[in-house]
Parts: sequence; C-alpha cells; structure tokens
Amino acid sequence: MIGLISATAAGAAARDRLAAAWPGRTKVYEGPVRDSVERAFAECEQLVCFLAAGAVVRIVAPLLADKSADPGVVCVDEGQRYAVSLLGGHGGGANALAAAVGDVLGAEPVVTTATDSAGIPGLDTLGWPVEGAVASVTRAVLDGDPVALRADAVWPLPPLPGNVTPGGEGAAAALHVTDRLVETGAYDAVLRPPSLVVGVGASKGAPVEEILSLVEAVLRDAGLSVRCVAELATVDAKADEPGIVGAAERLGVPLVTYAAERLAEIAVPNPSGAPLVAVGTPSVAEAAALAGGGELLVPKRKSSPEGRAAMATCAVVRRTPRGRLAVVGLGPGARDLVTPRATQELRRASVLVGLDQYVDQIRDLLRPGTRVIESGLGAEEERARTAVAEARAGHAVALIGSGDAGVYAMASPALAEASDDIDVVGVPGVTAALAAAAILGAPLGHDHVSISLSDLHTPWEVIERRVRAAAEADIIVTFYNPRSRGRDWQLPKALTILAGHREPRTPVGVVRNASRPDESSHLTTLAGLDPAMVDMMTVVTVGNTATREIAGRMVTPRGYRWQS
Ligand code: SAH
Repeated sequence: MIGLISATAAGAAARDRLAAAWPGRTKVYEGPVRDSVERAFAECEQLVCFLAAGAVVRIVAPLLADKSADPGVVCVDEGQRYAVSLLGGHGGGANALAAAVGDVLGAEPVVTTATDSAGIPGLDTLGWPVEGAVASVTRAVLDGDPVALRADAVWPLPPLPGNVTPGGEGAAAALHVTDRLVETGAYDAVLRPPSLVVGVGASKGAPVEEILSLVEAVLRDAGLSVRCVAELATVDAKADEPGIVGAAERLGVPLVTYAAERLAEIAVPNPSGAPLVAVGTPSVAEAAALAGGGELLVPKRKSSPEGRAAMATCAVVRRTPRGRLAVVGLGPGARDLVTPRATQELRRASVLVGLDQYVDQIRDLLRPGTRVIESGLGAEEERARTAVAEARAGHAVALIGSGDAGVYAMASPALAEASDDIDVVGVPGVTAALAAAAILGAPLGHDHVSISLSDLHTPWEVIERRVRAAAEADIIVTFYNPRSRGRDWQLPKALTILAGHREPRTPVGVVRNASRPDESSHLTTLAGLDPAMVDMMTVVTVGNTATREIAGRMVTPRGYRWQS
C-alpha cells in the first residue's frame, strides 16, 4: 500500500490525482501531518508526501530502522515540479515510485542514489541477497578503486565496471559471488546467488521445525549459505505435506515437486527401500535435489530429533548457472521507438552482440563495463553462434537487431543454435512494415503479409510463388529487402505479378529510412512506381483492391468493402 500525506490544498489536489490514478493501491492519511506520516511509515510499504523534504526528514528520522525494512519515501513539492526519491531508493522502491509519480503528475523524478547516476547496477538491486560491507564496496566500485571479484561461477549478472576484476590487483575491497560461507573483512561484500537446491523427504506429519533445522544444519555443516537456497524439491506425493510446505515458506523459496517415476530413474548414491514402499521411488531427497541437474554437494542426511525416530531427510545440490540470452529488437531507428523493455535488457546484459551499425545506435544506453562484440554485415551465423556461446558460458547476453529481431533477422539463427541449457528472452521491436505503415496512413487495415525479395538465401521460384499467392488472395504486401545494386529485376517482376490481380491505380507506399533522420516517403500507384526510388533502406507497401488514397494517406478498409 502507498500512503499519501498532504498538508496544503494544492498537495491535497495532487494527492487525489494519484489516488484516482492508482485505485486500490493508495491510502490517504488525514489529520495532523506528523501523526499521519508516522502512521503511514508504520503501515505502508511506500509513502508519497506532498510536503517539504526537510519536514519529512525531521519526522521520519527517529523512525528509521534498516534500509531493507524501511518504506520507500517520495516527496513532491507544492508546485508538483519534482518527485524526490528521499529514502529507500532501491530496496524501498522509491526511485521507481518517483518515476511513476512523475508520470502521473507531470513532475520530474529526482534520483540521487549514486549507482543510478553512474549507470552502475547497485549491489542491492540485483534481486539477490547481499551481505557484508555493501556500502564500502559500492563506494569503491563507484570511485573506480580496484575491487576484486571473487565469483565461484559465471552468473548472468549485469556488467560491472572495469575496476572490478577477478585479479583485483592492489584491491582492498572484494565482491564475492558465492554460496559458500566465507570469512569477510571490513571491505568484503558477498552476493548470494540462487545456486542451491535442497531435496527434502519427510514422513507424514513431520514437524516443520524438524525439517527446517535439518536443512539449516546440513547447509551450515557443509559451509553453505542458506540464503543461496533457490528451491526445495520433493516428490509429488509430498506436495501438500505441511512440514515441507511450511519449511519452504519459512525459507521464502518455492517448493518444486516431481513424479515418483521420474525420481526413480535418477541415479543416486543412497537409495533405500522405505520410500520405495511409501511413495514409489527409492530416493526422494537426493533424486528430487538432482532432478533439475547439478552436482550433489551433500548426500542424504537424516534429521536427529531427540527421543524419537527421524522423520525427515535432505540432500543438497549445486546447480550450474543458466546463462541468459535476450534477443532484442531496437525498432526502426528513432530512439523513442526503442521500447523501455529493450532499454532495460540492454542495460541488463554484460555482453552485447550485434551488427556494428546497430551497436552504434544504442551504445550510449549500455552500462559501463559491457563487453561489446560487434561485427560487420554478413556475419549473421557467426554472430548467432557467438551470442549463444557467451550465454552458454553463463553470461547475460543481448543479441540485437533492427526493427524486430525475429523478422528477417538474428532470432532465428540464434535459436536454431541454442540448446535448452540457457534462458531465452525475446523483446519485440517495431518492425519496418509497421513503422512505414504509420507514416503512410493505415495501409495494413486488413490482411497483410511481408515478403522479402532477397534471393540470397531463398530461391527466386519460392519468392515468386508467395508473391503470386498474395496477389491471388488480394492480400496487402510489404516488401522487405526490395532492391539493391546487384538485385534490380526482382521488384518490377513482383509488382507485375501483383498488377495481374490489382488495378494500375492501386496505392503503393514507398518509405525509406522510416523514423531515421533522413526519412522519406512517397505515395504512388502500381503503375506509377519508379523502382529507382527504392533501395535497401526502403520498404514498399502495396495495397489490396480496396485500398485508397484519402487526403494524401494510404488507407485500407477494415472490411472487404468500404462502408457506405
Ligand atoms: N528486422 C528488420 C528487418 C531486417 S531485413 C525489421 O524488423 O524491420 C532489412 C530490410 O528491412 C531492409 O532492406 C528494408 O527493406 C527494411 N527496413 C529495415 N529498417 C527500415 C527502415 N527504418 N525504414 C525502411 N525500411 C527498413
């Protein structure tokens, strides 16, 4: 819940706008300001105070407890010009809240957390637990001081700047990325990756305390951090066993269950007869821990409750980190047609793979320390292989393409190459056909198709058959790769095929460099098109038999005929 507090009439008006914009998410506190802020601070995850920053500082100062628990606080000035992230920028979500408040009120978000300003990911923003001297290590990272990176494995983390290196020559500070319990000094911070899976077996009615203390003791004895447990795993038959469900809840991790037949197939060091009789697999803890792959660190161990028989077993597996491949469409060219999600993925990646001219388009969006692997035209297969290989090595990779990366672009060769040991995320982009259509008017109002006229990878007979089908079916066509210096007869040939089924005056839109600085567009007709105005920077959109030019725009009716 977001608590809203105001003191003046203008503040109350702005407060009401926020409340109306976010129904069910806000709670208005009325009455004396100090009392309202205090109550909201105790009750809400976030506060928006339409008060002077100084006043809020004085009121909340005595209430501050801990960065991880305090609510995020945003202050908005009387003129609603600024939304200031005052407290809990990362953990409390105040930076994001300031941006959201800014969107509603037209206020400028003011964010002062250093990592955001420097484009460096805050150690506390990665979604992983972090321990130790977080502030000192962050300071060292920001100041460019050498920081030693002590990572047990490659994880798909955002990039860290160049002063954070595995060698860490001369470094006082160290950033550990490990599931092991490590000795930490005054300049060590530890990031806890979600690397451990704990397999759990329990007899009916096993108490949650027994399971939990077994898990904790096993991890402690193995020198492992309980904060790295990614999930508990067990057999389907125990999916509702209260002790196991409760232990997962207390650890704050999901419970994953597997069919007994599946577990029975997994080779384990310590099979036994009891679970085979009870649930149909000779191993629950070890097999469930191993079911998702990985290395068995701790074989099955039984609980040891005082004065009675053990009711729980557990085993610990370390899984191999999965790399992450984001296939990101950058849109047709203009910066404001790059989606926010694409930007986020570019900043999320530590390795960027792409064609040099596309990399140039977004280089300024990348975080410091991003490794850029760029190549020239024509190296598609190699780019795809490189991107997949980097992801398989565990990195967070962004593979970029113009428009939509899945349309005549990199997504296909990359995913043809990718195995199921990496995570793949696709970010759609505005493809050239859509960018051009928006410039032309509404040419795609009915069924439409894109056809690439490049016969580099596709035999011309296949292309011609598709053009013919579109012509016969009266489908609007957008031609990609329509004409280059060495390929000049394909476009006239394709237009001739369409002209066999459409009037000479059928509208044709030619858009060159859509959304780029030298954008141009021409509306002409099938009979009037001069192929010389078409090149590889161009798409050509041919209307169907119902498409018309209206007021200089290309418009296709939504039905088969124009409404009268
Ligand atoms: N993935 C890209 C298409 C790659 S094929 C996309 O989704 O847009 C390359 C062809 O796309 C070019 O020859 C041209 O026909 C077209 N194209 C790409 N960007 C364009 C733009 N900004 N304006 C006009 N055509 C464009």
